Amino acid sequence: MSVFKKLLDKKQPDSSGRRWLFVPYDQLSDSMGPLAKEDPKSLGIILVENTWKAARRPYHKQKLALILTNLRHFALEQADRGVAVKYVAAIGPYRTALEQLIPQCGPIRMMIPAERELRVDLQGLVKKGNLEFIPHEGWLTTSEHFHESKKKGPPWRMDVFYRHIRQQTGILMEEGKPLGGKLSYDVENRLAWKGDPPAPEVPNFPVDPIKKEVVDLIESRLGHHPGQLDLHGLPGTKSDAQNLWSWAKSECLPYFGPYQDAMSKESSSLFHTRISAVLNLHRLLPREIVDDILKMDLPLPSKEGFIRQILGWREFVRHVHRATDGFRTLPTGKAPVAERPGDGGYSRWAGKPWPATWSRKEPDGGARPSFFGTHNPLPPAYWGEESGLNCLDKVVSHLWREGYGHHITRLMVLANLATLLEVSPRELTDWFWVAYVDAYDWVVEPNVLGMGTYAVADLMTTKPYISGAAYINKMGDFCKSCLFDPKKNCPITNLYWGFLARHQESLETNPRLRMIMATLRKRDKSLRHYDQRVFQHLHKALKDGAQLSPESLPKK
Ligand SMILES: Cc1cc2nc3c(=O)[nH]c(=O)nc-3n(C[C@H](O)[C@H](O)[C@H](O)COP(=O)(O)OP(=O)(O)OC[C@H]3O[C@@H](n4cnc5c(N)ncnc54)[C@H](O)[C@@H]3O)c2cc1C
Ligand code: SF4
Repeated sequence: MSVFKKLLDKKQPDSSGRRWLFVPYDQLSDSMGPLAKEDPKSLGIILVENTWKAARRPYHKQKLALILTNLRHFALEQADRGVAVKYVAAIGPYRTALEQLIPQCGPIRMMIPAERELRVDLQGLVKKGNLEFIPHEGWLTTSEHFHESKKKGPPWRMDVFYRHIRQQTGILMEEGKPLGGKLSYDVENRLAWKGDPPAPEVPNFPVDPIKKEVVDLIESRLGHHPGQLDLHGLPGTKSDAQNLWSWAKSECLPYFGPYQDAMSKESSSLFHTRISAVLNLHRLLPREIVDDILKMDLPLPSKEGFIRQILGWREFVRHVHRATDGFRTLPTGKAPVAERPGDGGYSRWAGKPWPATWSRKEPDGGARPSFFGTHNPLPPAYWGEESGLNCLDKVVSHLWREGYGHHITRLMVLANLATLLEVSPRELTDWFWVAYVDAYDWVVEPNVLGMGTYAVADLMTTKPYISGAAYINKMGDFCKSCLFDPKKNCPITNLYWGFLARHQESLETNPRLRMIMATLRKRDKSLRHYDQRVFQHLHKALKDGAQLSPESLPKK
């Protein structure tokens, strides 16, 4: 018998006469919902460890380890409080696992799932009255807040939503006005990082028998999943999550604001907090985070900058996801939908299919809008093959080591480059979903389809987030050790101009791109021709897994 099972059996209280609650993988908190309000001795929780879910996509091993260790530790923590725990191993959809428990547990309650995939999976049980969805208490805002902030409906803007929420909640407000006079300090938060102050050392967490057992299980049974496992970097308990947050408060937050957009090959997080993975599992609660930040003595740009991430961006993206039914319903009509989950290019890279079984009764593979009509495959460089583009290679190698990267590397290196290479936004979304330990549909789809690739046009951002080498060089230190020179021969700059030229018609009318499109019109004809040759060359070379060098580029 496993260490975990033995421990759980030992702690398990009598389960008779309990009211049962299904707690999915991402609601692991007893500070919200029935677990916070009702007598633990009257409650039973159902936790499901599901190999079906793990097999739907080639998730990073560290993500599987994160979810499993937290699920198991949560079971033990709740048993310690006197809550009865049914810990179920499933090999099919969640509805099947829960259906079997209805005769013993009666109608089950659960806080409405954040993930659309899970809501869809469980809808049948809700319709039959076997499962009751109750409000999810982990969010800071409601859909009413979202719709009130923009009564006319889409396009939606984060700053409009954020302004509304600041006013509604009074957070960082004084007599109805933003504290310090400005709603956002974003423009002041754009320093590159030159090594001082030093980047904080990423915390390690104690290894315990539960974590060790999970990691061994993943290596032996799920070893075909990509990515490296890092046992010491695994926040698996409630106190690990709290320690991570304490580290973030003392080491990261004082510098969070000014270096928010900086990137470095030395550190994948710099002064970012790395809390998204545990926050999305609700091991930390957004309201606790916001309360703590408000109490801290921090420079206002850092304080406001961080509050905006949690109260603004995080809430905003999930509302957009909900309001568009996961981008299936767009102002322009219905988006096409992938029949089955994608593997983000895993099978092409690995040279073997991803071994998932799938049936039509299971949730589909998500919306696949593509404003620019782009459908290229994601290059193997995103799976760890060296491309010769130092920014891409460094970010990807950090990612497969940790399952993490901060916002700007996701946006301005990974999504930017994939957009310039005309990669399918859906394939890129699937890749982000499997590679990042904090990815779930409600958060990864808006960030990739909405923000990273402009696949849903101006639905949630005013312009595509694309750039050439100049931005990457200004905000990061990758270029210093790259074979390419950002000012002379970096092909990303040609990709950038080439992309603007190919999509000139659809971008010309965007007021935020007026200046750049005017510069494009003045660009020398032969250079414009060269931009397209570089695009063709990079598209083919990266698709074939070739390593680029200045010598390999087409001659001018
Ligand atoms: C292409 C792309 C894909 C992304 N995919 C995900 C994802 O799968 N899961 C995810 O949680 N975030 C995603 N993000 C948003 C953001 O990059 C991460 O939340 C952040 O990098 C997590 O690192 P951190 O905890 O160190 O964040 P910090 O910089 O320390 O920020 C604090 C918190 O703010 C929240 N936050 C900030 N920006 C966003 C945002 N745009 N959307 C949602 N929450 C936000 C997160 O909870 C984050 O933990 C993505 C962004 C981009 C551009
Ligand atoms: S020179 Fe170009 S490819 Fe190299 S790191 Fe800089 S931006 Fe990336």
